[in-house]
Amino acid sequence: MSVRFNSYKRNLFLWARHFNYKILPAVYYGPCARCGKKGQHRHHKAHDYIFACTLLLIYAKRYIEFHPDDIDFLCAKCHKNAHRIYDELIASFNSSLGLYKNRTNETTQKVCEIYKPLFLARYLKWRNWGKKK
Ligand SMILES: [Zn+2]
Ligand SMILES: [Zn+2]
Repeated sequence: MSVRFNSYKRNLFLWARHFNYKILPAVYYGPCARCGKKGQHRHHKAHDYIFACTLLLIYAKRYIEFHPDDIDFLCAKCHKNAHRIYDELIASFNSSLGLYKNRTNETTQKVCEIYKPLFLARYLKWRNWGKKK
């Protein structure tokens, strides 16, 4: 777990350096989008990290911007749970990429664009589950 976290932080550091961009800390945390308690984390709804790792030049800059359209505030507990919901999609995404033997960036981006809305929909289903309309 800590290894993964360190490589995450390391990637963000490398991307920030690559794009010569300063990652801004959150100036404000809204309530948790899942349970309404105090928000403590910025979560990329469509698991954008996987796309940033897959196609750095296209997705990593946007990722480190923590764009308001891309993120939700979550409390620590819900954030932990949120990261469990993507497993099947991640496996499916990876095997889809694996279908292409000599994959170009263009093909990779096409696959990413197919999967991004699926990841987002998976997240929204989890976030809104059991809530009154
Ligand atoms: Zn919560
Ligand atoms: Zn997250």
